Amino acid sequence: MPAMPDSPPFDPARMAADDPPPFSIHNREGRPRFLLTCDHASHAVPRHMAGLGLAEDDLSRHIGWDIGAAEMTQHVAAELDAPAYFAGYSRLVIDCNRPLSSPTSIPELSDGTQIPANQAVSAHEAAARAESLYWPYHRQIAGALDRLIASGEIPIFVALHSFTPRMTDGEARPWHVGLLFEHDRRLVAPLRAALSALVSDICIGENEPYAIIGPTDYSIPEHGPNRGLPHIEIEVRQDLIDTPDGARLWAGRIAEALETVHHSEQPFEILTLVKHDT
Ligand SMILES: [Zn+2]
Repeated sequence: MPAMPDSPPFDPARMAADDPPPFSIHNREGRPRFLLTCDHASHAVPRHMAGLGLAEDDLSRHIGWDIGAAEMTQHVAAELDAPAYFAGYSRLVIDCNRPLSSPTSIPELSDGTQIPANQAVSAHEAAARAESLYWPYHRQIAGALDRLIASGEIPIFVALHSFTPRMTDGEARPWHVGLLFEHDRRLVAPLRAALSALVSDICIGENEPYAIIGPTDYSIPEHGPNRGLPHIEIEVRQDLIDTPDGARLWAGRIAEALETVHHSEQPFEILTLVKHDT
């Protein structure tokens, strides 16, 4: 199905002065013990793309971004005095946590909603979206990590996300927090212990509600394991962080747990377990 006339293709020449930048950095000069990312921070769409042909209500649902994640990440960055990198556009424009080869890099369908502007996107347009909105974000992160490693630091790479309280079929997800990792489990048990000490009835999933599998994810495999850095993806249930108070509360808990783990698990080493060709 060709793109509908009310959802123009991406054209870098039509980016406007008031379109947001492809990424933003919070606390850039913070202490680099941690480097935080928020791939799904925004539901922005370049203005000339007319909302991808979707209603604003659809873009601001969970299909467009991770509800609460950006605000939570800002608080975690502030609590830890750590730099945090935020992708500037909706995952429906191009998903910054997918390899470009993934069929959901530019999703035609998301949780049952057809995305008009993403039907039959040409290779030329997909490459333009990647060059303008995906690579600038990832190059910044990669450059920062490589400089830190070269200077002798071993930062903990932390990717922050949120997940919906229910599956598409309505089944409730019981976890408050998911700890996601690939093969390197260094941070998993210490983080579980630290969070459980802070929140008595917390339900923590390991590789729930998703598992990180190299070909389907980008940020963790590329920036964490491929550099041998200690890393974790932390997913928080959206209904816990969809208010300013909730985002601040859970950010405080996550920051305190990360601080505890950083303190107790030193020294970290570069562990090259698996090299992915992402
Ligand atoms: Zn996410």
